[in-house]
Amino acid sequence: MDLALYVQKRLHVARYLPHRTLSSQSLTRPSTNTLQCPLPNTSAPLMQALDPDKARVFAVDVVEELRSCGYEAVWAGGCVRDQLLGKEPKDYDVATNATPDQVREVFGKGRTILIGAAFGVITVLGPRSAGQIEVATFRRDAIYSDGRHPDSVAFSNAEEDALRRDFTINGLFFDPITKEVIDYVGGQTDLQQRVLRAIRDPEERIEEDKLRMLRAVRFAATFAFEIDPSTMSAIQRHADELQVVSAERIAAELRRMLTHDNRRRAAELLRESGLLSTILPELDIADEAWQETLRLLEAVSEPTTSVVFALLLRPVHVGNHDAGQVEHICRRWKLSNEEIDGVLFCLDCEATIRSANAVPWPTLQRLLIAPRIKELMRFCEAVALIVARQMAAIDYCSKKLALPPDELNPSPLLDGDTLRSAGLPPGPIYKRLLSEVRDAQLEGTVSTPDEALELAKSLANATDS
Ligand code: ATP
Ligand code: MG
Repeated sequence: MDLALYVQKRLHVARYLPHRTLSSQSLTRPSTNTLQCPLPNTSAPLMQALDPDKARVFAVDVVEELRSCGYEAVWAGGCVRDQLLGKEPKDYDVATNATPDQVREVFGKGRTILIGAAFGVITVLGPRSAGQIEVATFRRDAIYSDGRHPDSVAFSNAEEDALRRDFTINGLFFDPITKEVIDYVGGQTDLQQRVLRAIRDPEERIEEDKLRMLRAVRFAATFAFEIDPSTMSAIQRHADELQVVSAERIAAELRRMLTHDNRRRAAELLRESGLLSTILPELDIADEAWQETLRLLEAVSEPTTSVVFALLLRPVHVGNHDAGQVEHICRRWKLSNEEIDGVLFCLDCEATIRSANAVPWPTLQRLLIAPRIKELMRFCEAVALIVARQMAAIDYCSKKLALPPDELNPSPLLDGDTLRSAGLPPGPIYKRLLSEVRDAQLEGTVSTPDEALELAKSLANATDS
């Protein structure tokens, strides 16, 4: 194409990319979040690698050490449940009749941490890769006046300690020496029948601690259990009281249930229980649109937290003219900046990827080299499957992404130093010139550094005149 004609065209062509994508998204910012396959979960904390065998041996040792000093000690809660479900426990908790001071005496100050001492919990540090174990004194909780934490705790016996826990499947103890399960709450039957049931009166359990409502949904969804009807009714009655729980705790639960393979079930239960209306009142959609969201959550493969939150928030984004609303919701949920960037990137760029074959190559290329492109593609693949019902645009992008790196993202022919050496007065215009010349390079209109500089000069002159 003739250079002068090209200059004219560039000066008049409107850009395809949404404004926010170009100005504030990760496209222009160096990012530490370069996504490798498989996608990392952006919320995962950095932890020392744990050896499951060593963790288990250490958990037996802790029980034996307490017993050798004359105390009762058993494994308690989640680790017992996971083991009975045939899953590797993530960590082990020990319950004992030794007081926190006595636990410290048994293991010594150098091996213990006091973090949860107010609730009777002492952390015992294990050998390398064995992790750490929370040793909790059997307790009974006093009333919960804030809807989240007991006002005080009193040391007690094993049975009362089982009864103060949330769900029957979480109220089991296990003796790792005799291999006996100790069940005061009917947890074994519920595990066999795959039922999530509050211990004793569900109404009281939920009233005491509102976080239990979300835990119920998470456990039921991730284990593919039914929620017992009276437990579900209690949750439905109290769903609007979830507001007393901190945004951070709510977000932590949402991350876990929505990145799990059973995320569709988690979303269904959130809606059925009424919790979704408390968490996301802005999602005021008809059943048909909700079904589409469920299908999207089911279709997406190995999503990061940003991708699932983007799918959940998509109806708010699509049906809304307030561009800031999605960001506002993410901030209310106290998502990390990294996660929020990812959510907005997916939602803002969906349209460009969906019409990939029709948008100018420089526009598409900028997206395809963005650090979060793998997340965006996962999001757009699900949308293509469920909403557009055709994969042509995705296939087109995949082909481009498979190009050799120097074709997909060739080194720029021009930089600011060259512009300065050529005598062009520095200023904000540099950014625009470099961007225009880069577009021309990607389109094949200029292919040497000299042509690139020539084009920059012409663009600068055209702007002056
Ligand atoms: P996971 O670690 O997979 O979330 P878990 O059951 O181990 O599951 P934790 O939060 O580690 O959950 O708690 C350990 C145990 O403490 C639970 O199994 C349960 O017995 C008890 N527990 C935890 N949170 C609560 C709560 N909010 N109300 C009552 N009991 C609880
Ligand atoms: Mg646990």
